[in-house]
Amino acid sequence: MNALLNPTQVEIVNTVTERCDSCGAAAKLGVRLSGGGELSFCGHHANRHAGEIAKMANRVLVEAGFAWTGSARTA
Ligand SMILES: [Zn+2]
Repeated sequence: MNALLNPTQVEIVNTVTERCDSCGAAAKLGVRLSGGGELSFCGHHANRHAGEIAKMANRVLVEAGFAWTGSARTA
C-alpha cells in the first residue's frame, strides 16, 4: 500500500527551536521538504497536516515527548 520511493525519515530531537509557519506558536515539528526548503509546525498544525507532511517531507524532526500522528504513516 505505502510504496513510497523515498520513505520519510523521522528523527527525535530534544528541542525544535523554530516557530510554527501557520500560527507562530512554538514548533514541535521541523520538516525538510523533498523539493527543498523547510517548514515548522506547532503540535496542533503538525497533527492537522500530518498526512500532507508525511507525503511532502523527506525528513521530519519531532520534538521529544511530542506524539506526532504522522509517525504512524511514515513508519
Ligand atoms: Zn500552528
